[in-house]
Amino acid sequence: MRKTTACRSCGAEIIFLKTEKGKLIPVDAETVTEGDELFDSKGGHVSHFATCDDPQQFRRSN
Ligand SMILES: [Zn+2]
Repeated sequence: MRKTTACRSCGAEIIFLKTEKGKLIPVDAETVTEGDELFDSKGGHVSHFATCDDPQQFRRSN
């Protein structure tokens, strides 16, 4: 199993994946499959920015 992190804002389980540009972004854990390393929205990954109750918090702490 992949190690998940609880979102500091809403408590959802998230996993950090890299984008093609090498930036780490939070992704909803349920959309990540074992072995995934790069964020791929076409592959079904959903950025937690899109689903979080308070995504502003992420952007600021980045
Ligand atoms: Zn959240």
